[in-house]
Amino acid sequence: MPTPNQETDRIIIVGGGPVGMITALRLAQLDIPVVVLDAQAETPTAHRAATTHSSTLDLLDIVGLTDTIIEQGLTARYFQYRYRTTNEVFAEFDFGRLAEESNHPYAVQLEQHKTVAIALAAAEKFPHFEFHRERTVTDVVNETDYAEVVTETPDGSQQTWRGRYVIGCDGGRSTVRKSQGIGFPGFTWEERFIIVASYFDYESADNYRYRNYLADPGQWCSVFKIPGPDDPDNKNGMWRNLFPVITDDPDDVVTSEPYIRNMINTCFPYAKDLEIVHSNLYSVHQRVADSFHKNRIMLAGDAGHINNPLGGMGMNSGIADGLNLAEKVGQVWRGDVTDDQALFAQYDRQRRPLAQKYVQAQSIQNKETLQAKDPEKATARFEEMRKTAEDPKRHKAFLMNASLINMVREAAAIE
Ligand SMILES: Cc1cc2nc3c(=O)[nH]c(=O)nc-3n(C[C@H](O)[C@H](O)[C@H](O)COP(=O)(O)OP(=O)(O)OC[C@H]3O[C@@H](n4cnc5c(N)ncnc54)[C@H](O)[C@@H]3O)c2cc1C
Repeated sequence: MPTPNQETDRIIIVGGGPVGMITALRLAQLDIPVVVLDAQAETPTAHRAATTHSSTLDLLDIVGLTDTIIEQGLTARYFQYRYRTTNEVFAEFDFGRLAEESNHPYAVQLEQHKTVAIALAAAEKFPHFEFHRERTVTDVVNETDYAEVVTETPDGSQQTWRGRYVIGCDGGRSTVRKSQGIGFPGFTWEERFIIVASYFDYESADNYRYRNYLADPGQWCSVFKIPGPDDPDNKNGMWRNLFPVITDDPDDVVTSEPYIRNMINTCFPYAKDLEIVHSNLYSVHQRVADSFHKNRIMLAGDAGHINNPLGGMGMNSGIADGLNLAEKVGQVWRGDVTDDQALFAQYDRQRRPLAQKYVQAQSIQNKETLQAKDPEKATARFEEMRKTAEDPKRHKAFLMNASLINMVREAAAIE
């Protein structure tokens, strides 16, 4: 390796979403120079992740973010499953049962752009942290002695950034992953998902918890509370509904107000007149990259794995990727480990198979439970869920997976 150049011996992170920003913060805390490059002028406020699980709150204590996340968020100790048609609660889970397993036996509901802002504010205190917006990475060079990324600004000017390693945290469509020819096998669900945000208070109207799933062979859905925007209309938080689009109608039809109102009316007749503050249509995929590591390039978060949002696992598992990787980069940087490639191969072994085993398997199972079509199978699944909630041992075992505590522990045990 050539003598490191102080100007370029640094880590380059592509993508300043939750995974990139938290990974960068940890690297900065470890005294490692880090540059984050993001394509956008502002952090997008689209409705995406809101649930931060116990395992992540424990991990974020390491970087000192947990208290602020709890302060700004809503503490969600319970979550429910209901039958959509009768509204009967058939299973309720209590994260409080994880009190001996986690310092934070609850989930916190906080929009991901707020988590990014909290991490950015903490990272900006380090002189060796840099964040550049409106830098779209168009190419990545993975050489024996260094890695480089090429960025483009909106006016078309190009710039090359050299570093010791590049970490691709650039989301599901990752340019970093594609530049390395790393495959992204999996599938896309047939149905699109639509998310609707309003100030309608489901808790007062119908005793909803802050996280709720409504099962139905046709129009299943979920209801979640979030703190919501800093807006005079926001008196007591915002609620999000996630609906699957179960017809083949084109995007402009399914995003039209009458279509959305019909879905709301089907699931929540008493809320049919609510004011739709925001709605957004998503395609949903289940994919895991063929590798999280190639020479000087690593992938973390959605760049390495994407899944449906049921269970709230994408951002949580991505943050666990990023913090795992940052510790390994730290070991190399300090000279504790000389074989960096062996260490990054361990990162791949610790994170990639578990993304399959926990995140993919559970998010698919969550969706199948909600939408089971065959009446016999549906009854059997719901009955199983009810029994799981009622049996203390099974209840806790279910939560150990749902909170991703088992995933983090299993990863740490892989050599
Ligand atoms: C409706 C919905 C609800 C969800 N709810 C949850 C939840 O409750 N809990 C949970 O854990 N997960 C949830 N998820 C998943 C979660 O949103 C993602 O897993 C999370 O955003 C991944 O973070 P990331 O930092 O890896 O990627 P992103 O958040 O996608 O960030 C990628 C960043 O990279 C930048 N970028 C992209 N391409 C380039 C480029 N070429 N050059 C430079 N920059 C680039 C983007 O601008 C962006 O800032 C949900 C997703 C959806 C759609």
